[in-house]
Amino acid sequence: MNYSTGDKEIFDLINKEEARQDRNIELIASENIVSDNVRKAQGSVLTNKYAEGYPGHRYYGGCEYIDQIETLAIDRAKKLFNAEYVNVQPHSGSQANAAAYQAVLKPGDSVLGMDLNAGGHLTHGSRVNFSGKMYNFHSYGVNDEGFIDYDDVQRIAEEVKPSLIVAGASAYSRVIDFNKFRKIADSVNALLMVDMAHIAGLVAVGLHPTPIGIADIVTTTTHKTLRGPRGGMIFAKPELGKKINSAIFPGTQGGPLEHVIAAKAVAFGEDLQPQFKDYIAQVIKNAAAMAEVINNSDHLSVLTGGTDNHLLNVVLTDTDLNGMEVQDLLDSIHITANKEAIPNDPLPPKLTSGLRLGTPAITSRGFDEDDCREVANIIIEAIENHDDPEKLKELDERTKALTEKHPVK
Ligand code: PLP
Repeated sequence: MNYSTGDKEIFDLINKEEARQDRNIELIASENIVSDNVRKAQGSVLTNKYAEGYPGHRYYGGCEYIDQIETLAIDRAKKLFNAEYVNVQPHSGSQANAAAYQAVLKPGDSVLGMDLNAGGHLTHGSRVNFSGKMYNFHSYGVNDEGFIDYDDVQRIAEEVKPSLIVAGASAYSRVIDFNKFRKIADSVNALLMVDMAHIAGLVAVGLHPTPIGIADIVTTTTHKTLRGPRGGMIFAKPELGKKINSAIFPGTQGGPLEHVIAAKAVAFGEDLQPQFKDYIAQVIKNAAAMAEVINNSDHLSVLTGGTDNHLLNVVLTDTDLNGMEVQDLLDSIHITANKEAIPNDPLPPKLTSGLRLGTPAITSRGFDEDDCREVANIIIEAIENHDDPEKLKELDERTKALTEKHPVK
């Protein structure tokens, strides 16, 4: 799309960002590239409409088409995840989590979630986030190899007696055993919430076990592996539906973003097609291909030894560079990734000793396993030759060749 008219100042920058996305190899595990139809719906006249409330029960007139759109989004989300209840209104993953907590917790209640430094999300109890300020969050981590230690989760749960246990992560590359979390939650009389934001696309096509029907509440974003617009969504056991709806509106949000809800419906329609399963299978194969090459290198390794999903965490402790330096180095050759803490990281979160890599966005533009092996080799060579400008120039040519082979459509 070329935005040549309108507000020049802004549209010039949008054009530049579009060119940046085309030229860069996007490895941020939480990002993706949506279809033109998702963008069309999100950029539509629906942004003009107020629709506080829910389909059939709105506080404003003129909602006859909005109601049909939101109902379609709901029906498609339920079908995609084989769920009985969903709320598609959360503006983001964080808003979904805020409302889920509000629905079942009182301020000060004890909650157990995954530590941010171990791969959890800010909204799972970080001290700088509303979750850590409003609730009495305790955390579990991962063992030295990077795996969730379920016995340790059980031990902490018995100690802190949480009202709610939160499973799910932003930087965990292995299958999460929701049945084990359910057993732990039941043993201490806690509710179980799963935040499947990162793996929702895998869950939708059956390539990661589903938490639906196991957890009391399941939250997600819609813009990561689901390849939809930026937003959130909450599934729950039907008996919690009324509480969740009230926690979203009027509890934590006002008017829903119906243009985004329409775009969610479009994305769910795409996710229900058989090609979406092929896409997710390729995302997983691509991550595994990168992990294999990195594990075969001299100075890099993959935390946990590999990956079961769309991301991998690379350990940098045997190199001269920290996570921040590698992130900047990769930026200079048009690879976008982010630093990530590793277990017992000797460096502070601003630097870190790790790097998180994800394959959803590059797979959307057509990268296959051979392309991903080439990306992994470029990363390894860049780190090994970080002070050799000539070599970095050559590597930049190689990233250019890959992005030209697979333009963002
Ligand atoms: N939950 C998890 C596990 C996440 O990884 C993220 C975002 O990265 C969120 C929630 C928050 O989503 P948002 O950025 O839409 O608020």
